Amino acid sequence: MANTTTPHITIVGAGLGGLTLARILQVNGIGVTLYEADAARNARPSQGGTLDLHPESGQWAMHQARLEREFLAIARPEGQSFRLLTKDGDVLRDEVAGEEEMDRPEVDRSALRDVLMDSVDPDSIVWGKHLKQVRPLEDGRHELHFSDGSTAQCDTLVGADGAWSHVRPLLTDATPSYTGVSFIELGIPDTDHAHPEISAFVGYGTLYVFADDKGIMPQRNGDGRIRIYVAFRCDEDWLTTASGIPFDQPAQAREAIRGYFADWAPQLQELILRSDDVILPRPIYMLPIGLTWQPTPGVTLLGDAAHLMSPFAGEGANLAMRDAAELALAIVAADGDFTTATAAYEKALFPRSTELAQESADNLDLSVSPDGSRQFDALMRRYEAAGQ
Ligand SMILES: Cc1cc2nc3c(=O)[nH]c(=O)nc-3n(C[C@H](O)[C@H](O)[C@H](O)COP(=O)(O)OP(=O)(O)OC[C@H]3O[C@@H](n4cnc5c(N)ncnc54)[C@H](O)[C@@H]3O)c2cc1C
Repeated sequence: MANTTTPHITIVGAGLGGLTLARILQVNGIGVTLYEADAARNARPSQGGTLDLHPESGQWAMHQARLEREFLAIARPEGQSFRLLTKDGDVLRDEVAGEEEMDRPEVDRSALRDVLMDSVDPDSIVWGKHLKQVRPLEDGRHELHFSDGSTAQCDTLVGADGAWSHVRPLLTDATPSYTGVSFIELGIPDTDHAHPEISAFVGYGTLYVFADDKGIMPQRNGDGRIRIYVAFRCDEDWLTTASGIPFDQPAQAREAIRGYFADWAPQLQELILRSDDVILPRPIYMLPIGLTWQPTPGVTLLGDAAHLMSPFAGEGANLAMRDAAELALAIVAADGDFTTATAAYEKALFPRSTELAQESADNLDLSVSPDGSRQFDALMRRYEAAGQ
């Protein structure tokens, strides 16, 4: 319920979206409580790979969060370098980004999360609070029920709790569906020293290879690790059933995965064989494109909770941060009147996320296809011709 004198915003989820919202509200003097499922700040061993932050979204949000200097300290402009190969190893594109190119610099997700986490009042984050359910109360407030049996009540609630949001059911029945594509995450540590030839092959940024309804996408991370996503167009449970890949036996799993790429260039097969024992199946999900909901007093969503999409547009984290910044600024502009703020925020949110969710789905179809690398190259040519 709107409270124009002492607004206090409850956020569920301390991912990039929830932290950005908390930070911008706090720098504007608005109180926040952030409930996070993880038991502690460093409870999760890995926060994921590298992201490029876009000027109109991720970078803009860091500006609104007054964290530009901190962002520049962790940005890796050379990480924008990009190579596109055919499965035979023929180079379709080889773009090397210079140190001065700050259009879309790469940043390690863990470093970005640390910057945001350090900027938020630690007392406003409540760790180990896995939200199980939200109950609307008769007075318009909400009651949060956590897995540890505890409860909390709030006037205003923002679901920033990602793909499988437990706040979302207050607003819509929509749930994520499988995209038809699954990734396996692999990685090669300390590549410069351990495998200089692989390091040179991948380059300073990302390498993409798509063919035969499959893909191999290595990306250099700031810590010297090359993280590799291997993509398959397949049924939702194929990786863990019919594929025959024994994920609990790393040596055999590497060999089984390589077997699916037996007629691809030897350097691409080497990427799989040289990876370490972190071998994780990751089916890719999305929410319906164009998802909206009726304005509902006291509650809204941001980031993946609002518009989960496949990573093929490279927008998910950027959008989560932009949503967060727009919502925070709307709350400030409305002097804490949450209903007015969410109406303005959602009006812009829906068309923005619909457009990018469509782009992401189109890019997935085009890339994980029989002739993906050449399709991808043609798409980039069309963008270039249009001056984008
Ligand atoms: C393989 C892959 C590669 C990607 N690459 C890119 C990329 O290059 N660029 C890009 O912009 N995006 C990328 N994305 C998308 C990006 O990761 C997400 O869009 C982004 O993390 C969304 O941020 P968020 O804050 O909305 O949610 P999340 O990052 O998922 O954060 C949600 C937070 O809520 C917490 N939480 C979850 N459930 C509960 C609960 N019930 N109770 C309490 N807390 C809860 C979680 O622990 C987490 O801290 C990629 C995604 C994948 C899968």
